[in-house]
Amino acid sequence: MPADQMREITLAKTPEGKLDVADFAPRTVPVPTPGDGEVLIRVLYISIDAANRAWMQGRTYREQVLPGTRMAGGAIGEVVASNDPAFAVGDIVEADTGWCEYAALPGKLLEKRTPRGPLTHLLSILGITGKTAYFGLLHIGKPKAGETVVVSAAAGAVGSVVGQLAKAAGARVVGIAGSADKCAWLVNDLGFDAAINYRDENVMKAVKREAPDGVDVFFDNVGGDVFEGVLFRMNTHGRIVCCGAVSQYDTDTPSHGPRGVPGLIVTKRLKVEGFIVMDFFDQSPQAEAELAGMVAQGKIKVAEDITEGIESAPAALVGLLNGDNVGKRMVHVADRTN
Ligand code: NDP
Repeated sequence: MPADQMREITLAKTPEGKLDVADFAPRTVPVPTPGDGEVLIRVLYISIDAANRAWMQGRTYREQVLPGTRMAGGAIGEVVASNDPAFAVGDIVEADTGWCEYAALPGKLLEKRTPRGPLTHLLSILGITGKTAYFGLLHIGKPKAGETVVVSAAAGAVGSVVGQLAKAAGARVVGIAGSADKCAWLVNDLGFDAAINYRDENVMKAVKREAPDGVDVFFDNVGGDVFEGVLFRMNTHGRIVCCGAVSQYDTDTPSHGPRGVPGLIVTKRLKVEGFIVMDFFDQSPQAEAELAGMVAQGKIKVAEDITEGIESAPAALVGLLNGDNVGKRMVHVADRTN
């Protein structure tokens, strides 16, 4: 049986400017009792996502996280009590539990997950991260062998998978990331053909050098100046996959739209398409099986960046927005007991 009390992290205030750990407040609250049709989950790992920051300001695909409420976030947990016959004690589930140690949620809001390999893979390569890369790149970007793919936030959770999937598809892959160490890791460890440090050099010039035949597919996680730099190097009939805009989340003054829109989209006949990973959920099992197969065959290396303890969640998110992470960032809250 769980303890009576648990820790949770609330959003203390809507952040102004850059997010700070002081924008959060931990507190101790009673462990909830599951009601009719509800399941009590012991949280094992919490996913830390760039999008967490966007949710605090509203205007996204989900409701705004309001001050005084538990910080929202996806997690993997184990069932410790169940009033829903579809779930048994010991089941592993994925749910939007928020940043807490225990959550009672209706069974219909949970997804039962079957671990394949380490539990953490359910949040990284076999979770939202891997599936975002998979569907965005393969269903929207559709790279062909011999084409050039550029990916931004390349050393992050989604980007590091995108680049490896593009390599497996036979493309030339150029990553854009925020440090020399990250760039070296992309090339030496993940097999990217080239990497550009956007903090150190002009992106447009660097893309011209590293993608001498132009860019056929641009998988963009960042927006802003990086987007503009790559846009000018797109080939005719190129595809731009708009996955996210992390450069615009952690500020009160998002940059102006990029130059070249819509002019270059017209003259180069570009296809620019946004997507939300949930759009493809009916095809999740196939994606998961394929990604697991690629990991088993050594075609994808899984990069995870794990911080320890529920109290580390605020700093983990602040750090991610500053580029501290390599690969999928998550918080280890507890070990599985069953
Ligand atoms: P990451 O692990 O990629 O972490 C974010 C990274 O963004 C940081 O490591 C940092 O790396 C980079 N970054 C931060 N600020 C800037 C900036 N101003 N300019 C350029 N790069 C910056 O996070 P996620 O994998 O969780 O998310 C990546 C993107 O994917 C986000 O835009 C997110 O919203 C999106 N996403 C979209 C989904 C969808 O369904 N469409 C689903 C999941 C994620 P660096 O050191 O390189 O700067």
